[in-house]
Amino acid sequence: MTSRIPLAETVTRPIYMFEEGRGDMRDLLGGKGAGLAAMTHLGLPVPPGFTITTEVCRQVQSLGGEFPDGLEAALWRAMASLEARLGKRFGDPHSPLLVSVRSGAKFSMPGMMDTILNLGLDDTTVEGLAAGTENPRFAWDAYRRFVAMFSNVVLDVKLHHFEQVLARFKQQAGVSADHELDLATLREVVAAYRKLVLDRTGTPFPADPREQLKLAIAAVFKSWNNPRAVAYRNHHGLPHDLGTAVNIQSMVFGNMGEDSGTGVAFTRNPSTGEPELYGEYLLNAQGEDVVAGLRTPRPLATLAETLPEVHAQFKAIATRLEQQVRDVQDLEFTIERGKLYMLQTRSAKRTTQAAVRIAVDMAREGLITREEAILRVDPRKLDDLLHPRVDPVAHMDRLAKGLPASPGAATGAIVFDADEAEKRGRGGEAVLLVRIETCPDDIHGMIQARGVLTCRGGMTSHAAVVARGMGKPCVAGCDALEIDLELGTLVVDGRTFRAGDILSIDGGSGEVFAGAVPLIAPELTEDFRTLMDWADSIRRLKVRTNSDTPRDSAKGRELGAEGIGLCRTEHMFMQAERLPVMQRMILAASKQERLAALAELLPFQREDFLGIFRAMEGLPVTIRLLDPPLHEFLPNLVELATEVAVLKATRPDDPSRASKEALLRKVQILHESNPMMGLRGCRLGLMYPEINEMQVRAIMEAACQLTRAGVVVKPEIMIPLVGHVNELARTREHLEAVAREVMERTDTTVPYLFGTMIEVPRAALTADQIAREAWFFSFGTNDLTQMTFGFSRDDAEGKFLMMYADEQILPANPFETLDRDGVVKLMKMAVDAGRATRPGLKLGICGEHGGDPTSVAIAHELGLDYVSCSPYRVPIARLAAAQAAISTPRP
Ligand code: ADP
Ligand code: MG
Ligand code: MG
Repeated sequence: MTSRIPLAETVTRPIYMFEEGRGDMRDLLGGKGAGLAAMTHLGLPVPPGFTITTEVCRQVQSLGGEFPDGLEAALWRAMASLEARLGKRFGDPHSPLLVSVRSGAKFSMPGMMDTILNLGLDDTTVEGLAAGTENPRFAWDAYRRFVAMFSNVVLDVKLHHFEQVLARFKQQAGVSADHELDLATLREVVAAYRKLVLDRTGTPFPADPREQLKLAIAAVFKSWNNPRAVAYRNHHGLPHDLGTAVNIQSMVFGNMGEDSGTGVAFTRNPSTGEPELYGEYLLNAQGEDVVAGLRTPRPLATLAETLPEVHAQFKAIATRLEQQVRDVQDLEFTIERGKLYMLQTRSAKRTTQAAVRIAVDMAREGLITREEAILRVDPRKLDDLLHPRVDPVAHMDRLAKGLPASPGAATGAIVFDADEAEKRGRGGEAVLLVRIETCPDDIHGMIQARGVLTCRGGMTSHAAVVARGMGKPCVAGCDALEIDLELGTLVVDGRTFRAGDILSIDGGSGEVFAGAVPLIAPELTEDFRTLMDWADSIRRLKVRTNSDTPRDSAKGRELGAEGIGLCRTEHMFMQAERLPVMQRMILAASKQERLAALAELLPFQREDFLGIFRAMEGLPVTIRLLDPPLHEFLPNLVELATEVAVLKATRPDDPSRASKEALLRKVQILHESNPMMGLRGCRLGLMYPEINEMQVRAIMEAACQLTRAGVVVKPEIMIPLVGHVNELARTREHLEAVAREVMERTDTTVPYLFGTMIEVPRAALTADQIAREAWFFSFGTNDLTQMTFGFSRDDAEGKFLMMYADEQILPANPFETLDRDGVVKLMKMAVDAGRATRPGLKLGICGEHGGDPTSVAIAHELGLDYVSCSPYRVPIARLAAAQAAISTPRP
């Protein structure tokens, strides 16, 4: 197993004794090795041992599993030093040294190799152990465990075979628990185990401890690439080239009687964050008996009664470790005949709720600074705190798993149709909108549904983005579902559900359940508020919200928004009583007719803005004038054409035929081969100025009315999709006249701003000119990304973007995280050129990138004034902005 290739030059030192390593050497020693080294340095009772580095692992892998020349020599030197320390010898028939072999990568990875305990036992050394401990039963029990563990991990003989053998012996002996077996039976068990190994592998169980140790080390290295470990790294986005370290540690025994035991503990409660030592232990047990669930472990607090001194010592150690590492620790310990040993320490995994509480508590205790507290919480996880969740301990009927598109849990009756969802939702029923995928036509149904479930689409699909925007739970792309709209059925895993059947989804995990599930309500804790206050005092970027309704505005404000960065006006025309008027406006044969329809729409618009301005009193509100192409307000071309054709063929004299045909002609005229690049945005306003005019009038009338009533209103009128400065100049001239006219007529002054979106590359390139006509720029990062890459988001995500991500053609989805090398470069140009023309130019981002922590950091670096995102992402952006301010010095 040793090759002729010497240890690589890069391997500066293949092995570190625990006392030679340091707590900060996780890259080289892995998390476990670094923790053991740190504890050893603190003088804590750690059984001596050593760590073979990750560098060696990488070289062994490059040699196809063989050891480089020199590794073995280093290994036996390290073993000799252990022997000298402990006064025992490895393989010694009288007083044998036994060790554990433990894997340990930089990131703790449950997918990797299981630990082997009691290595060093064979038919002779077991007698030495028996004599030395005066406890032959214990010695043979340890041997039994070793043969099973080693065979399972190294020789790939599955554990259940051993369990079967053991069960047989227990039955014969008439006992129920392992520890009730007597010495004679244990000897027979070991013999039976070894026979099992011979039968299944064709080779005898390796008898020589030195051989066993080498095989075990090789198995740990190999386990880095086992399928579980690879899958785990894929799931968590961890690199595959780090390798694992191997820890060899002298054994201590928790299974030597009622004054021995083993346990695990957390220095604070990892689920709630409560500052209390929290743990469990078992007396007379070894290794992972505690987590294996064979016997029910006891709460750590009871150790204070059984072994008070050990308990007090452990408590002191736990406190000391937490103080030293300045983070919550996850600890493993073993008690051997009344003496405590520490076997592991690492920073504990915790829920978001606990993460927030622990960060705040530790800052208050003076253990960490407020800045560190802010950096300790992952902004992406804050979502968990803002939505109801499925009770994690409840028992549920899980059907399938899709993408966790929008967090929160929802239970409702299946509805396959958006109109139906709207109707029943309005009626107060809890419904779940279940679609193959959603489109903008489904909005009304989504609004009334408790949650959205789709079979197709990714994390930024329509359903996902809209649901997140609404703070509504969504599971997207759940391809295990088969929807048959004809039959009105949903088939999953061979089970059929119909409209009206109850399902539940957890948008935080992507899971779908049959029936109702128990939920836990979200609560904004004091700790959360405190952490947010600290973040607010540190961040430089302001955070606004995207909102089209008074309700969302209030929600955003409650979650800390400092204004509205994007109020889209198109949804306002989609509502039931308005859409026919809007269609009349679009279909108008003359300007006169169009003006009449617009006059009807004006009061609706004014009401909308009154509500939003009130909710946002004192804060800026950026309103984008109508953006989408007009055909979006009209019936679908293909459906309409079919309808007309059928009418013609079946009922040529139908009185509605003429109007349907007229409608069809208009829809055909408005039809564009590429609407995204067609008549939309400011182009629409230049063709039909009266539409924008009505909108500005509504904005200014609402603003003037409120101003006169003493409400402070700060409207910011935003023109979308400008590419040439003249587009903006012309639009502005016209609309400012309207604004002035309203103010004069009402004899009121409103400090409004006039600005534009930067979402066409040409606008970014000519930002110096455009800034002459604008008081603010808002980067429409979604369109800017689409137009910079030259692909539309829906098409890209539906077709090739996933493949791009899988094959790493693109480093990330540019619709989730701003593309630094391209889009951000354009933004930087626009920022510099815009500010050169107009030093006080206000700059912001609207669009969902504003809620992505990495993109928020980019906005900070660019020196923008604010980001804007959907209400529920506001806390994420606040925390991310503070983290950016801490990590990146002021631009
Ligand atoms: P994991 O990474 O899965 O926690 P560990 O390497 O920490 O695996 O070990 C598994 C179990 O074996 C733990 O309960 C640990 O405390 C115990 N263990 C490991 N090494 C020793 C040792 N030298 N003496 C006694 N128990 C040990
Ligand atoms: Mg462990
Ligand atoms: Mg746009």
